[in-house]
Amino acid sequence: MAMIPKETIEEIRARCNIVEVVGAYLPELRRRGSTYKCNCPFHKEKTPSFTVNDARQIFHCFGCGAGGDVFRFVMDYEKVDFVTAVSVLAERVGVEIVYEGGQPEKSGNKDVLYKLHTDAAAFYHRMLLDSAEGAEARRYLEERDLPVEIIKEFQIGFAPNEWEGLLGRALKKGYEAEQLEAAGLAVPSERGGKVSHYDRFRNRVMFPICDQMGRVIGFSGRIMNKAEKGAKYVNSPETLLFRKNRVLFAFDKARKAIVDERRAIVVEGQIDAIRCHQAGLHNVVASQGTALTENHARLIKRYADEVILVLDADAAGLKAALSSSEIFIAHELSVRVVTLPEKEDPDSLIKKEGAKALTDLVETAPGALDFLVDLMGKQEDMNTEAGRMRVVQSVLNLIRQCPSAARRDPMINRAADLLNISPLALSQDLRRNQAQQRPAQRRIPAPAGDPDHPRRRV
Ligand code: ATP
Ligand code: MN
Repeated sequence: MAMIPKETIEEIRARCNIVEVVGAYLPELRRRGSTYKCNCPFHKEKTPSFTVNDARQIFHCFGCGAGGDVFRFVMDYEKVDFVTAVSVLAERVGVEIVYEGGQPEKSGNKDVLYKLHTDAAAFYHRMLLDSAEGAEARRYLEERDLPVEIIKEFQIGFAPNEWEGLLGRALKKGYEAEQLEAAGLAVPSERGGKVSHYDRFRNRVMFPICDQMGRVIGFSGRIMNKAEKGAKYVNSPETLLFRKNRVLFAFDKARKAIVDERRAIVVEGQIDAIRCHQAGLHNVVASQGTALTENHARLIKRYADEVILVLDADAAGLKAALSSSEIFIAHELSVRVVTLPEKEDPDSLIKKEGAKALTDLVETAPGALDFLVDLMGKQEDMNTEAGRMRVVQSVLNLIRQCPSAARRDPMINRAADLLNISPLALSQDLRRNQAQQRPAQRRIPAPAGDPDHPRRRV
């Protein structure tokens, strides 16, 4: 088994200030007298009982009892083992670990995958900025109005048009093909019983995707030339590091602005998010075309009270807006929805009309409820009873998601207003609606590790 020498562990501990480490994960951490406080990341709460003590270099939550040193925090927060937690922090403070008893298991090791992604991003970035092969990609980004400062800020890159462009270099650096495969950067192929590997990303402009700490965990690669065959974007597959349903593009860069404003703007595409940042809108993240999930909602909820969804005006975009609204509302986030002018996305709108065109839309965006009623009103005949009931039903479905009665109440009043129904009738229907739904919800199993439902030991 791989062991980290005691002295190394102590050196890392000495160099890590727990306030800084925790603060990097939880930017809302604030000084309160002799300790630092914020809402606990390990249980749900509304008033902060999570504390970090600078003098003693420990954290403790008075609500759920979580606590320990800086290593324990990383273990609990990242859900990793001790050795991984130590190595995450070692990298942060620049301490090299010499393992006793051999390196930790290779291809399945998160550490190696982080390192590999860091190296790959640097390689692609270098190829874009300096190489002869990168000329077409440079021209492409210039045509798209993405200047070199932005290319550097987002570490945009270029994957050369070779089968082993990245692979060859990585092998030379001592990585193994299986590690590149585990990272999603190389694809295995079998011929005559022999497995070989080739680069997943070839001849594409590369957008590194980072986790909330800013570590590269995946890539999205865009084709430059419409004539070329293949999908417009190719993304990293699910790996040990990259979980699509948890990641929001540019979250690491947006986090500070999201905390400051307590609101996040969600757009669809990477280039949309990049354009917004370039134009001075820093609280913008991108869903990268996937459906928004509860994990996304939880992530945003840690930093913001409000989400503004900016989605395409097409049918798919509108449908996505509705299901995302439900998920966010269920996590007690206020939701507003921006409908873009037809055929525009945030990138094209800002380029044509400037950032103000988008911020104006954001400022005047209707709440999810108004958006829904407006949308349904266009689809249904409000003069027929059946049409009206379908609208009422959708409205109830939305309000039902909201767990807090205090938030539900104004929604009911607003909906009653919009639909010209009495609030009383609406809340009665809501109650009936909830009663019908409840048995189904009860069947959802408790998540693993839920303290109320400890898993039986085998
Ligand atoms: P661009 O401006 O470069 O054309 P876009 O962001 O406007 O990109 P859309 O077609 O609106 O492109 O797609 C939105 C997002 O969905 C993309 O940014 C990308 O993350 C994702 N996406 C689009 N096409 C694909 C695809 N074929 N495979 C995987 N993801 C895709
Ligand atoms: Mn676009």
